[in-house]
Amino acid sequence: MTFKNTREFAQQLDQQDELKHYRDEFIFPQHNEKNVIYFTGNSLGLQPKIAKTYVDEVMNDWANLAVEGHFYAEKPWWDYHERFAEPLSKIVGAKPAEITVMNTLTVNLHLLMVSFYRPTKTRYKIICEEKAFPSDQYMFQSQVEHHGYDSKDTIIEIKRRDGEHNIRLEDILSKIEEIGDELALVLFGGVNYYTGQVFDMKTITEAGHKVGAIVGFDLAHAAGNIELHLHDWNIDFAAWCSYKYMNSGPGNASGCFIHEKHHNSNLPRFAGWWGNIKENRFKMEQKFNPIIGADGWQISNLPILSLAPYLASVEMFAKVGMPKLIKKRNQITAYLEFILHEIDNEIEGTEFEIITPGNQDERACQLSVFLHGQGRSLFDYLIKNGVITDWREPNVIRLAPVPFYTSYEDMYNFGQILKEGIQSLNN
Ligand SMILES: *Cc1c(COP(=O)(O)O)cnc(C)c1O
Repeated sequence: MTFKNTREFAQQLDQQDELKHYRDEFIFPQHNEKNVIYFTGNSLGLQPKIAKTYVDEVMNDWANLAVEGHFYAEKPWWDYHERFAEPLSKIVGAKPAEITVMNTLTVNLHLLMVSFYRPTKTRYKIICEEKAFPSDQYMFQSQVEHHGYDSKDTIIEIKRRDGEHNIRLEDILSKIEEIGDELALVLFGGVNYYTGQVFDMKTITEAGHKVGAIVGFDLAHAAGNIELHLHDWNIDFAAWCSYKYMNSGPGNASGCFIHEKHHNSNLPRFAGWWGNIKENRFKMEQKFNPIIGADGWQISNLPILSLAPYLASVEMFAKVGMPKLIKKRNQITAYLEFILHEIDNEIEGTEFEIITPGNQDERACQLSVFLHGQGRSLFDYLIKNGVITDWREPNVIRLAPVPFYTSYEDMYNFGQILKEGIQSLNN
């Protein structure tokens, strides 16, 4: 499609957008009595209007039933989390028994490493991406030290080549092969949080398995954003937070995937009563009898008030389905890219460098833009003018036009504000 940088053209794309009605199902912060242009759904998704209904339902059940709510609530609390397995499994390409929700993301990655990082004298190394999200780096270091290894020699980061912004698949694969028998675990992001690069999880998993390693993924920026086939790709385990693309609310619960091939294994785990089979859970027996499936990794009884808005959101995703979201995502991201190039061409002396891969197979709903020469003052101008984006050192803004609730006209308006901002700062 040939794009145009005009309001009429953007409105026309909105007219044709089969998801356009969903915009009204979310609550936007207001700026001068208008919706902000929201580019940070990759950090905290907007609140779906329906979320409050789900929370109120739990509050009412608690008021009316108190402890009896565990079994007699509208949606009983003792197995509330089981409601996620079916819809979430469709979103991430898994079987329902492979999915559970619990805790928060870094906590779950730690717990999954208890099961899946089993270093030995000869096989103990971990491969991860250079500049992984800081929480993941702290997790790797503390896990490795917990097992008594030296992180310098154990954690192997796949680096970007000089002058390049993204990691090459061939460099990941050749490092996996090179480490070979010493490699215990590959744990990568599905989508890099900084550049928005999407990794080829299927190929990475095959390569890791070929040398006898376990392969897991942190899907913080992937769940609800890209097409996933966790089961078919034969990934051993994965976890994601739900408050980014999945719109579940600040700091909310994490989803976990554990491939069914591990459900009957003797993997060690840190156990708790909620992982025990339901029928015996309240007999309070001494012996732990795990549920066969990802639910067997549960520990505590769940924070129902926080799961409620997550459930609301998961059901919305299941209703729309990933294919429609991905179709719009590709088009609106391409439109944003076009607008950035247009503004760049219109104004003397600016240069935006989009460091996210240009190829649609290697990116999703995020463009990370390096602002040569502009910098922090331009970012501040955007925020002051109702464009919510975020800033990452040294000079990068991340723009995520989330397909669920952003419009093509938002992209056009953003371009105009950006242009005014640059012009006013240049004068
Ligand atoms: C957002 C994010 C996290 C955050 O972890 P929490 O435990 O939910 O605070 C971790 N890893 C990655 C890659 C992220 O993008």
